[in-house]
This record gives sequence, C-alpha cells and structure tokens, in this order.
Amino acid sequence: MKFLAPFLVSFALAAPLNAQQAADAVAPEGAGAGAVATSPQVAAAQEAKAQGRPNVARDWMISAANPLAVEAGAKVLRAGGTAADAMVAVQTVLGLVEPQSSGLGGGAFLVWYDAATGEVTTLDGRETAPLSATPRLFQGQDGEPLQFYDAVVGGRSVGTPGTPALMQAAHDRWGNRPWAGLFDDAIQLAEQGFAVSPRLSTMVAGDALRLTRFQPTRDYFMPDLQLLEVGQTLKNPAYAEILRVMAGQGAGAFYTGEIARDIVETVRNAPGNPGVLREIDLAIYSVRERAPTCIEYRAYEVCGMGPPSSGGLTVGQILGLLEPFDMAALGPDSAEAWRLIGDASRLAFADRGRYMADSDFVPVPVKGLLDKTYLAKRAELLKGDDALPEVTPGSPEFDHALNWADDASIEFPSTSHISIVDGMGNALSMTTTIENAFGSRLMTRGFLLNNELTDFSFRSHRKGRPIANRVEPGKRPRSSMAPTIVLKDGKPVMLVGSPGGSRIIGYVVKTLIAHLDWGMDVQQAIDLPNLTNRFGPFDVEPTSALAPALRNLGYEVATRPLISGVHAISIGETLQGGADPRREGVALGE
Ligand code: GLU
Repeated sequence: MKFLAPFLVSFALAAPLNAQQAADAVAPEGAGAGAVATSPQVAAAQEAKAQGRPNVARDWMISAANPLAVEAGAKVLRAGGTAADAMVAVQTVLGLVEPQSSGLGGGAFLVWYDAATGEVTTLDGRETAPLSATPRLFQGQDGEPLQFYDAVVGGRSVGTPGTPALMQAAHDRWGNRPWAGLFDDAIQLAEQGFAVSPRLSTMVAGDALRLTRFQPTRDYFMPDLQLLEVGQTLKNPAYAEILRVMAGQGAGAFYTGEIARDIVETVRNAPGNPGVLREIDLAIYSVRERAPTCIEYRAYEVCGMGPPSSGGLTVGQILGLLEPFDMAALGPDSAEAWRLIGDASRLAFADRGRYMADSDFVPVPVKGLLDKTYLAKRAELLKGDDALPEVTPGSPEFDHALNWADDASIEFPSTSHISIVDGMGNALSMTTTIENAFGSRLMTRGFLLNNELTDFSFRSHRKGRPIANRVEPGKRPRSSMAPTIVLKDGKPVMLVGSPGGSRIIGYVVKTLIAHLDWGMDVQQAIDLPNLTNRFGPFDVEPTSALAPALRNLGYEVATRPLISGVHAISIGETLQGGADPRREGVALGE
C-alpha cells in the first residue's frame, strides 16, 4: 500500500498547476498500457493491439475502454443480443472499472445504424442545466468568470444526468434481451470486486487533492487515505445496489424517489461549492432523438451528432474544407497534409465558437455550416503555402437576425468511447462522459456526478452580445463529443469516436483521414501520432517527426502528450476492430 500523506505534501508544495498542466498530470502518456487480461480472447486482442494489428472477426465486434467492460458486452452479443443491449452491459461495467470517465452520473450521445431500416439516428442523453441555473452560474460577484477548477469541483457544475435514461431509451427501442440481465456482470463485479487498472490507479494518484475534498469520494477512492494500487481488488456494494434497483424497476427509478433525493442532497450540500439541482430537474429529464448531421466526403457519407454537440458539425466542416484537396496523394508524412488539416480545423473551430450550442435554445445554422458552397468558398483560404496568419468565423447562411459573440468554454479530457457491431448488422457509436476526470468529484451511491455544466461558456456576453453557449435553465451544454458512423452506398463502413475534450474533433478527423484517404486499417489509423489544432498552435504528439516542418510553415508548435482514446471498427468483408494504445481498451469480436 502506498501512503498518501507524503504524496499529498509533495503535491501541495509543488507550484500550483494551471488547468492544462493538471489535465496532463492525470493523464500521463502510456498510463493505460498494461491492463490485466481477463480471458484468452482478451489476451489475444491485447496482443494484436500491441503489434499494431486490428482484431478481425465475422459476426460481431466491440471496442471499448476496458477489457472487463468489453467482455460483458461480448457475452450479450454472443447470446444474440443487439448492439443496444451490449451497450448497457458495457456502460454499467465502465461506470465501475473506469469511473473517472463515464457512468450513471453523466451523459452520452449515441449514433445508431439500423440494419432493418438502413436508417441512421441519434439519441441525445446530454446533461441539462438545472431550472434554477442562470447565465451567471460560473461568474463571481464581479461578473468575471470563475477559475476552472473552482467551478468544477463541487455541486455547481453538476447537470441532470442523462446516461441512465439513454440506456433505457436505446434498449426500449433496439434491445432484444431482457433488460434486467444486462446488469449481471456489473453487479457481480461490484459485489465481488474487480482489479484496479493501471490507469485508474494513476488517475487517483494524480487527482488525490481534489478527491479528498468530499468524504464519500475519499472513502471509496482512498480508503484509509491510501492510494489505490494496480491489481488491488476494489468492491463497490453501493453501486451494485443501485444497479439492482435499476435492473428491477427500470432507469425511471434513478430519476425519482430516494435515488433522485440523494443526488440532489449531494449536489446542494457540497461543502464550499453547492449547486442548484432540484428533484424536479431529474423528474423532467428526457432523452432526445435527433437527426444526425451528415456530410458527403468523397465516396462516403459521414454521420455524427448534431447540436448540442459541436462534434458532428465541426468534424463535418473540416472534412468539407479538405474535400477539394488530394489528401490521399499527400499522405500522412507530409507537412502539407497537416497544414491543410490544421488550418481547416482552425476555420471550423472559429465557426464552432461563434455558432454552435444547444439548438433547442438558440438558433444554430446547421444546414449553412455544412453547406458545400459555403465550405468550398471558405476552403479557398487554404490555398496558400503557409499557416493562416489569422482565422475568423465565416458567415454561413443564417436566417436569424441575432449575431452571437465568440465563446469562452474550456474543456479538459476524460470520457470514453464505445463502438459495437452486432450479429444482425446494427451499428452503435457512443461517446459517454462525466466531463473532467472524476467529474465534479462528488459521489453518491457508488457513482460520481458529472461536472458537465462547465462545458457552457463561463462568460454569458461579450461587448453586449450574447454567447450562444451561455448557461440557461434546462439547456444542454455544448459538447465536442463526436461519435461517428461512416456509410458507403447506404451501408456502414466505419464507426469511430474518442474522448479528449475539444481535441476529440482532431482525434476523430485524424482517424477518418488515415483510414478513408490514406488506406490504413483502423488500428494503424488509431496508432498514427496525433496532431491537433483548435485555435492556432499545433499540438503534436512526441512520437511525430513533423514538429520542425510545421514550425517552418509558421505554426507555434507544442509537443505534448495527446491521450486520445479512439475505439473504431471498420466494416467490410470482415469486421476489423481497433483500440487506442494510449489507453487500456481492446477490440473483441467473433
Ligand atoms: N465534456 C466534454 C464534451 O462533452 C468531453 C470531455 C472529454 O472528452 O474528456 O465535449
């Protein structure tokens, strides 16, 4: 057992970290490499991943962030369950074994391809702002934005969770296995204990100061003020109990009665930073079915999650801006290819910051942003040789008179992505989150509560103009999550998504271009070094050799860990699954 006290002292004495350094500190590169193999199939899948090969199968495939969760889903698929059934098993186990990233206390977006109808649809299980929230939720008395972690840690940042309702909605619609049985693995693992993974152990150590602020969180993640060791058995009876209740009564039990009361009390009584959530917020929560955002990209149709996520629109814009250029001929080693991707991304992020938010609350020019003529015109800006000196939002066709101001939202990575193809040919791409690592750090009944509300802009106005993504009661904070399904001739050919805050968009674009344009298999595409550009500086993974060339093109380059968590499946004559070597997931299929 490692003792916490000396660690806390050294952590506290170190110079205070800014928010980005803190995010890196809890996500060191390679922290997820050595998760424990749980079966011969998982061992083989891990071997393939280590060798940079995709896992190949015929009937079904599942790729997610932890072997125990993948196995739970695999059992469901083996028994003839659908991708929606398997997702419930995967999500409930992830909430136990990867609690820092997603769970019952969070939200998720799901993109679904239905084999029977050939249709793609999306379910929005995003958290909502409480009805008593105001646009000034994250501002001090002086109207200035709070410091990021002052807002995150505690009750203020907690939105109404959407994940339990999303699991139920997906199962009601597309499931074929009995609901209650889908909780079996998670309940058993929670009662009998599971082996703490390397990544969970590292993340707890990196976040010890924040996790110790609230007693239930401290008691679970640092029993007797000791850090969790890799391989240590951790039990979570409270989580098993709430799963039993939901297995028996449905997800509705989460949103009313005792469970809802406990959530609300935890949020409203958070020491030092109480929130405004009420039982009514849980009682009125609903999952929204929404049309996907789809864009044609060469021979493909790339479909993703529209507002309140910026993921589908921003990925779509980047692809639309790249379409006039021969990316295949340039290839992955060319700085010119990355100049195009980088500046296309900057142009798309400029539009994202101005126009994208929850379209139930503010008009969003969804069509205008993906319009081919608009994007082709804006792509003219990419025709030079060097990095664009300056990037501003464009003017997509927008029949609404309001003019938004650019926003000020901050996002730091946690989150998890699940890709599944079932034996019937249905496909599911779902990104699931509690936002920051360990969310708000508040825990009740064995699960962590999200801090999703800090995905809103802390500022509500700029120079008298409203910001589209400001806090409003009942509104869903803008996301970057980009669960994606790529179709060709109406059939799915690729599923992809990632955690990573607003870098998700770059991780997903890289994997798409690498597979669709550069012909890499999904594992090679995931393994390829990450290079992301959101607002100007190019973030480059240390394994890439392109930093000097990008500097020569005029970019400010930051070499830094870029911990994506891409889980992707390609669908052709075989199913090929890939899992990100930067985290501890696997792809398993038969
Ligand atoms: N909360 C972020 C979003 O919805 C995701 C955070 C992450 O990927 O870690 O966009």
